[in-house]
Amino acid sequence: MTDIENPGDAPTQLAAGGQNAVAHALGIIGDEWTLLILRHATAGVRRYSDYMDRLPISNSVLTNRLTRLAELGLLEKVAYQQRPPRFEYRLTKRGRDTWPILLAIWAWEAAWVPQHEEQLPVMRHGRCGQAFQPLLMCAACGKAVEPRDVTGGFGPSGTWERSVPAATTRRRSFAGSSASPGLFPQTMALIGNRWSSALLGAAFLGAHRFKDFEQRLGAPPTMVADRLRTFCDLGVLRPAPGVDRADWLSYHLTAKGRAFFPVVMCTLDWGHRWFKAPEGRALVYRHTECRRIFTPRLSCDQCREPLRGSDVTIEHAA
Ligand SMILES: [Zn+2]
Ligand SMILES: [Zn+2]
Repeated sequence: MTDIENPGDAPTQLAAGGQNAVAHALGIIGDEWTLLILRHATAGVRRYSDYMDRLPISNSVLTNRLTRLAELGLLEKVAYQQRPPRFEYRLTKRGRDTWPILLAIWAWEAAWVPQHEEQLPVMRHGRCGQAFQPLLMCAACGKAVEPRDVTGGFGPSGTWERSVPAATTRRRSFAGSSASPGLFPQTMALIGNRWSSALLGAAFLGAHRFKDFEQRLGAPPTMVADRLRTFCDLGVLRPAPGVDRADWLSYHLTAKGRAFFPVVMCTLDWGHRWFKAPEGRALVYRHTECRRIFTPRLSCDQCREPLRGSDVTIEHAA
């Protein structure tokens, strides 16, 4: 087993015309148990019993997620003992590479979800020794980036149809997952299902009017209305009188909504790095100031140095 080349260390080559990098990334990251397992895995947890000790998870759900993460190349199942055989799950490069997403989610929840049920740990930057928040910046020029500084749209493999995780895949993959842990309810409300993540993507791409969302998503009007209401209730979108007609509302990202941008960018970037469609990228963004392709990097808001996963230490509140 250990001498087979680990699929998690090289990008997956996707089929032409099929689901693109965005669909794959959202299908994996938009699952709360997966995020919790990855978070513990990055902190060094490897064994089944250690996950059982740390997470309020059932045996069937844990088995399902570990198996799936191994199939997807984020974890590698390795025998650490022969008689009797015992296995552990080690992060692959692909799995370890999710740390910016986990960090961005943690930062958004810590800043914008005061009623968070879980006591969030403090993140400390090893290089400067400070408790920090991650800042989104452009890898090409090193400047801090806000959503308005980036323009973009679909690339060669990008259509809405190819960008949403297939419902059938999700049903099969998440067998036995009826109960969600509920530790990140707001993050999951934004990216935990295909229509929500598509609506959020449309908002970041500049959709404001109901019919813009409806057209871009190709979703039933009741679905669009339902998700817009949820996003407004969460304080991520704000309704305003329409431009064409005052009674046709338009929807604008709030500061809380814009602050979720690093989560979206880090998720898309991870997807593009590890799932390659033969046609090319699903989404192409440019940093308007330096005019280069926008690749996200997270930096420390205290010392401004780019962050590396190995520099970040987690301190649980006393
Ligand atoms: Zn730039
Ligand atoms: Zn720092």
